[in-house]
Order: sequence, then C-alpha cells, then structure tokens
Amino acid sequence: MEVILANPRGFCAGVERAIAIVERAIEKFGAPIYVRHEVVHNKFVCDSLREKGAIFVDELDDVPQGATVIFSAHGVSRVVREEADRRGLRVFDATCPLVTKVHNQVARMRKEGMEIIMIGHKGHPEVEGTMGQSGGGMYLVETVDDVHNLQIDENTPLAYVTQTTLSVDDANEVVSALRKRFPAIVGPKSDDICYATQNRQDAVKKLAAQCETIVVVGSPNSSNSNRLKEVAVARGRNAVLIEAPEDLDNDLILGARSIGITAGASAPEILVERIVDRISKLSPGIPMADDTGVAESVTFSLPKELS
Ligand code: SF4
Repeated sequence: MEVILANPRGFCAGVERAIAIVERAIEKFGAPIYVRHEVVHNKFVCDSLREKGAIFVDELDDVPQGATVIFSAHGVSRVVREEADRRGLRVFDATCPLVTKVHNQVARMRKEGMEIIMIGHKGHPEVEGTMGQSGGGMYLVETVDDVHNLQIDENTPLAYVTQTTLSVDDANEVVSALRKRFPAIVGPKSDDICYATQNRQDAVKKLAAQCETIVVVGSPNSSNSNRLKEVAVARGRNAVLIEAPEDLDNDLILGARSIGITAGASAPEILVERIVDRISKLSPGIPMADDTGVAESVTFSLPKELS
C-alpha cells in the first residue's frame, strides 16, 4: 500500500486573502467582526475564525448598526452592497478578485445590451452574487438539458459566464450545447473557471491514474471539493469527501492498495497532515509520496486599510 498526495492541493490565493482579511480586521478593529456567510466553505477555517472573534451571519439584518462586516470570498449581489452602504456599515470585501472579474464582465456585457447565461449551481452564494450584478436579463443553467429548455429569442444578443469552481469537463459540455443552440453567443476572453479549480482538477486526474482510492479533504458545501470527488469518480475511482480525519473509514484505508489524497481550495493543509497521521497510525511504515504538479505563484493583495 502507498499514499500519494496531489499537487497542487488545498488553499488557493482567494481563500488565503479572504481568511487574512478577517484576521486583520479582528486585529485592527477588535472583536467581534461580522462576516456575511461562511467566508470560505470550510468548517475548520470558520470555527478557527469564530474563536478569534468572527461572527458569521446569513444576512446584513443580523449585523448591528455601526459594526464592521466582511463579504465572503464568493461575492455578493449589488443589492447587498447597496444595503450595506445604506446602513452605513464599515465593509471589507473578501470577494475573490477572480469572482470580481466575472462580476465586471457581467456589468460590461449588460451595458452593451447583451443578455447573459450563467453556467453554475443553483443556490451557491457565488452564483447568487454574480446573478445579482444585473437587475434582470440573466439566466442560470446547470446542465445540457437546461440549455435545451431555455426560453430565449434566438435573435437576442447573448453572452455566457461561468461559476469559477465548476468541473472543467462538465462546463465544456454545457458551453458546447450553448454554442450549438446559439451560434453567435459570446464567451469570456479567458475561462472563468479559475486557475486553482483547474489545477486541482488536473492534479486529481493524475492521481486517479495512480491510485484506486481517492480521499478529498473539504466540507460538503464546498463546490470545488465536490468537483474533485466527481472527477475521481468519473475515472472509476472509489472517492470520498471528508471534512476531518475522524470521518475516515478504517476499512476503506486498510482495504486500499493505493490511496490518493487531495484537498479543496478552502481546506487547510493541517487537515491533510492529520489525515496522513491517521493513515500512518493505521498502517505503520506506509510509503508516502508528494506528487509533482504545477507550481502556483498567484497572490492577491489585501485591501489598503488592512495591509
Ligand atoms: Fe478565487 Fe478560485 Fe479560490 Fe474561488 S477557488 S477563491 S475563484 S482562486
């Protein structure tokens, strides 16, 4: 038996920035600091920030007058931004710059008179934030079937954008269906699926070629972690998504010939280390290898007031 760790795995630049914004805001202004929605979709990360003084709320109504609020990495709609302004809240925006890029595309294309189809998962906060950049003229599709069911006049000037954390393969299928149905549809200059999502999916494809069991570390509501599991399953691998070492099934580990481990973009490396420790205790002396993969050098700066 052997264990191979995917590369790259875990935190992306957008998640590191979002966590740093919450930590720096607590340091600078003192606790509590309010955060609208989980700043990133990871229980361990949110629990750690809670201990430092973050209070996570669903809506701005739960933020007291005069307090500081942070928008999560997934972004917010224009209505939420306007509401925060109206309430006079001090806002720090932890929206990932790669999500903001999609927001700007939507605003520009709507200004140019286009209607926009967003490829994404219904109910995901990033989708709500991006759809909320426009007062109308946007449609959400998740699947090829949704494309067939769209009720849009064929002469409407159309563009599409995507959620940043989709499965690259699934998104390509939906884009092909869109192009087939609306040949004049305009797409983004470069893919909206972010570098971190693409790199982690590529790494898990490589891992799936070497390992029969794949363990994905991430929370169940993390979009990119779920996609990593799906990528492994699509390659016929036995894949599990676990949030913490204690979720690991002993029989799964003891019965596997080779185990690949990866982590979603919001899952911290400490969880990977704890899972590796747990496997080492179950199978002492098990060989461990770090797979090779693309090196990532993307970083995003903090808001000026917090840097
Ligand atoms: Fe940004 Fe991509 Fe990370 Fe999401 S997964 S926070 S879009 S870098």
